[in-house]
Amino acid sequence: MDATAKQLLNTPAEKVRNVGRQRAELLQKLGLRTASSLLFNFPRDYLDLSHERPIVELEDGEQQTVRGMVTQVAATSHGFGKSRVSILLRDSSGYLRAIWYNQPFMRNKFNEGQMLLLSAKPKMRGMMWEMSHPQVTWLAEEESQSEGRKMLPIYSLTEGISQYHMRRMVESAVDEFGDYPEEVFPEALLKQYDLLPLTTAIRTIHWPEDKETLSDARRRFIFQELFVLQLALSIRRGQQQDYQAPALEATTKIDARIRRLLPFTLTASQEAVIQQIAADMALDRPMNRLLQGDVGSGKTIVALYAILVAVAHGKQAALMAPTEILARQHADTLAHLLEASRVRYIVLAGGTSKRERTEMLEKLASGEIDVVLGTHAIIQDDVRFHDLGLVVVDEQHKFGVRQRAALRQTDHSPHYLVMTATPIPRTLTMTLFGDLDISTLSELPEGRQAVNTYLVEPDKQERWWKFVRDRLHEGRQAYVVAPLVDESETVSAPSVAAAFEQLTNGELEAFRTGLLHGRMSAAEKQQAMEDFREGETQVLISTSVIEVGVDVANASVMTIVGAERFGLAQLHQFRGRVGRGNHPGFCGVMVDTDGERSHERLEAFAKLTDGFRLAELDFEMRGPGDLFGTQQHGLPPLRIADLQQDRALLEEARREAQLLVAADPGLKHADHSRLRSQMLTRYGEALGLGDVG
Ligand code: ADP
Ligand code: MG
Repeated sequence: MDATAKQLLNTPAEKVRNVGRQRAELLQKLGLRTASSLLFNFPRDYLDLSHERPIVELEDGEQQTVRGMVTQVAATSHGFGKSRVSILLRDSSGYLRAIWYNQPFMRNKFNEGQMLLLSAKPKMRGMMWEMSHPQVTWLAEEESQSEGRKMLPIYSLTEGISQYHMRRMVESAVDEFGDYPEEVFPEALLKQYDLLPLTTAIRTIHWPEDKETLSDARRRFIFQELFVLQLALSIRRGQQQDYQAPALEATTKIDARIRRLLPFTLTASQEAVIQQIAADMALDRPMNRLLQGDVGSGKTIVALYAILVAVAHGKQAALMAPTEILARQHADTLAHLLEASRVRYIVLAGGTSKRERTEMLEKLASGEIDVVLGTHAIIQDDVRFHDLGLVVVDEQHKFGVRQRAALRQTDHSPHYLVMTATPIPRTLTMTLFGDLDISTLSELPEGRQAVNTYLVEPDKQERWWKFVRDRLHEGRQAYVVAPLVDESETVSAPSVAAAFEQLTNGELEAFRTGLLHGRMSAAEKQQAMEDFREGETQVLISTSVIEVGVDVANASVMTIVGAERFGLAQLHQFRGRVGRGNHPGFCGVMVDTDGERSHERLEAFAKLTDGFRLAELDFEMRGPGDLFGTQQHGLPPLRIADLQQDRALLEEARREAQLLVAADPGLKHADHSRLRSQMLTRYGEALGLGDVG
């Protein structure tokens, strides 16, 4: 880049017109330190003023904006946690009422005499137009900045900086410095994808003329963000090919020895997946495979097969689970399989005492241990392996590339197998998880039935609990799942503590109940789980900690409380805890008739039994969310792109990035230098890209 332009862009924010020292300090809280960072501080939303009109000209049910003065502010509260704030807005043509339910803090945001813009779909109530929960813009006195503008940017703010000031500061930055950023894309690519040039796009994204030009500007930046991400993933994939790994062939002899240990015949699907894994492990390049299979499809045994192949070659294997409960459960399974063998294993988890831990670590380092099962404790700095050949990660998308890098040894890398029951939507497997090969378990073991799922309306709850009691009387066990709600949260959502309290004194009074949640100590959790597994407790009332993997065959019925709080894929995980043995599984979802929106989701949940379908649906309805955001993959968050909405662009970006990397693997060409530096700044560390090429 032109050295002076670069210098200019690095001008401290303080020196930008309309900023000054005080505001510059506040801007730092938003991570904005330079002129350039202001330029790239994109609006989080826009106010569309093209729909502004006088109150008398409003039309029913269309998104519109009115401008006026606050003439009255009122707040009422009635009942527990319910409140209503309303204001009266006047313009030259009439009055409009705006209302906020259950947001008492809104009361303090309005004063009589203030000028506001309100946007929403108005409704006529009585004799007056009403907007509920409109978008609000506070206009500074004599503010004229929206004059003649059809779209007003809305920025993320911090205490002490108003929207008005933020607009002025960004506008100044664009005026003074907007011409300096140098184009990132090669000319040909801009043309091919009809992308706005960088400097035009910067101007437009802050002050768009209308929706169409805004969408052009956003498209350019979205494409850029996705393209840079795909470049990074593509380059990383190339680098992976360069690592050495031990070739661990599942010879006929090894295969036969392992199969003698298996307690059941594998499903065709398990066989197919084991073939794929064995083929990977036989090569001297590291396996990077994602195994996805619905709840109960039998992933554990596949993992154990791979582990035993590694051990047969004298290598160590690690199996990492998201919770200690699960790690111990895997250890139990392993213990059963290995009764007659000499494989030595340990469980390393948060609850392990210091002395025990030290001892275990010594044995791991000296090679006296073959298999280590555990939680994150496995990848802590002080853990040294003698000769790690395989790492299996169960049910954890969070185990990103960085963690994988942590387990790499100096001279070679272990093989990796990542397992998930929450199938990753196809678009993402093709893209974000582009550095993994994918295997799928597409069938459940024979005789396994889908869990019968019911939505239980408030008037049917008594009947449901009777059904649960009947199952308990038959000797089965039951789960009750409820959210862990913070006491600090004001919403009146049901919590696990409240559910426990109510049930043990009510519907389930006659039964032995246990409580399990994430705030308990490791030892307490383990005890609660063991009591349930042994049948000491008949009902386990738990938070989502039992979400994944927990396998108690005698448990056949589950009740989910506060289901609105959970995603579809997560709910599917919950119900996968029942119906695992010979007893049919039942799941009752308590529904609150108030929540119309979540009702639709819950109905889909009751109807659909296919976890893959549910995951896709969840993704469509809620976006990648917590589960599949870039962060869970160990990458920095995306700033402007949305993996769900922008998936078409994502695929284009991916294709183009691959072509570019194929043509210029080190991004050495002068035309690619800015892409290269963007990529390294953003993903170099997270992906361990080191020095490219
Ligand atoms: P998940 O894929 O959810 O991790 P698990 O590995 O826990 O599933 O397996 C679910 C249950 O099915 C376990 O009790 C396991 O022993 C059993 N199972 C796995 N594979 C088979 C099979 N081929 N035949 C019969 N039962 C199986
Ligand atoms: Mg599992």
